[in-house]
Amino acid sequence: MFLTVHTTMRKNRKRTIITLLEVLAVLLLLAPVYRLACSIGLKKVYSDNGISIYADDLRCKKEEAKHIAETLRVQLMEVDGDYSPKISVYFCKTMAGFQIKAISMGKPLALTRANLKATLFRPCDWAKNSIEPRKPQLLPRSLSSVLLHEALHHYEWRKLGAIRFFTKTHSEHWKIEGLCEYHAASSSFPIDKGLRIFCGEDNYDFVTSNEIQSEYFYFVSRLRTDYLLNFKKVSESDYWSTRYDEDQLDDEIRQALMEKRYTFTMQ
Ligand SMILES: [Zn+2]
Repeated sequence: MFLTVHTTMRKNRKRTIITLLEVLAVLLLLAPVYRLACSIGLKKVYSDNGISIYADDLRCKKEEAKHIAETLRVQLMEVDGDYSPKISVYFCKTMAGFQIKAISMGKPLALTRANLKATLFRPCDWAKNSIEPRKPQLLPRSLSSVLLHEALHHYEWRKLGAIRFFTKTHSEHWKIEGLCEYHAASSSFPIDKGLRIFCGEDNYDFVTSNEIQSEYFYFVSRLRTDYLLNFKKVSESDYWSTRYDEDQLDDEIRQALMEKRYTFTMQ
């Protein structure tokens, strides 16, 4: 009896180890396979020092890709001098190609799969350094500001580790997006309008009727992060470790805005 149980336990443990190794193999294989799939139809126009850029080589020249990658490297250095990015960026030719590669039904400006070290962009205008907004009520974004936002998701992944990153994405998503928008220093949502809605001086119906809830969420996330890091001088590690009551935090920001102790004017 004992021998049978012991043998069964040993078999189970062996099976568990084999399963874990299989899962590990799939995960290790998944990233290169996914990145290979993302590169279909695109050319590697630039690759140096951890940053690779894939694009339509007829629309994006090597010098343009080099410039955007070097700008990104400098911007990331300013955020954290110890961070050395290892990311592949794919500028998709068509929206359909973007959605298939991103495995997404939505149409965001860009999408990052931090666990797979990949960032995908919807079609954008290289000559104008711009990405058109999803809706006419929103503002265009510069390509470099969106790229910095996306690259900072990779930074967060590295900084927080996989489990904390996933946990925070689920329970404190505003921090994940807020930090990226704060450093990217740009919003799709018009700032003046956003502040009026946030302070109750304008109607939230503007957001719901135009289906721009996600852009307003990004705006509020950036506002909260700016208030904490820029105005209250909270350190980045305290930002991550403190569990803020969101309603309380918003009331505090509203109060500071109305009393003109705190201003948020950048676009
Ligand atoms: Zn984001």
